[in-house]
Amino acid sequence: MALRNILKEDDPTLRKRSREVSEINERIIILLEDRTKTMTEGAGVGLAAPQVGVLRRVFIASLVNDQEENELKEFIDPEIIEAEGEQEGDEGCLSVPGYIGTVKRPKRIRIKYKDRHGNEKVEDFTDFHAVVVSHEFDHLEGILYTDKAKDIREAVSGAHDEEETDI
Ligand SMILES: [Zn+2]
Repeated sequence: MALRNILKEDDPTLRKRSREVSEINERIIILLEDRTKTMTEGAGVGLAAPQVGVLRRVFIASLVNDQEENELKEFIDPEIIEAEGEQEGDEGCLSVPGYIGTVKRPKRIRIKYKDRHGNEKVEDFTDFHAVVVSHEFDHLEGILYTDKAKDIREAVSGAHDEEETDI
């Protein structure tokens, strides 16, 4: 596995729409593996392919499951099929280091996606998980949280609660 460079907000690649994966080949699997390492190294909760310069509709997210363990989920060709409610919270992003901002997101989203084996899944995400998934989904559309945020400010270094984790 290789560490990949994370693109920063002024990089034009982050502003492009990513293309569908369609065929899950070896290159996509390598991308998933590399990204896991890159995300963990950068202490992020999620990472989308365009953040490492690959304009494909793929992202990963580390989410807490029912057993209270972190579970790494991989989303290929995701589609948001329902969004409901509203919540507001602070977000950061590995592509915008050192800052956080307050963003409005849906309270619950239903998303259809494929796993690395090509199995199609439909799943609901609520609360913080809905934030993470919709933040990562936005990356595939060329949208950064800073487009939607109000009150973007410098993150206080040393503070490491959930709200200030880079997604
Ligand atoms: Zn991000």
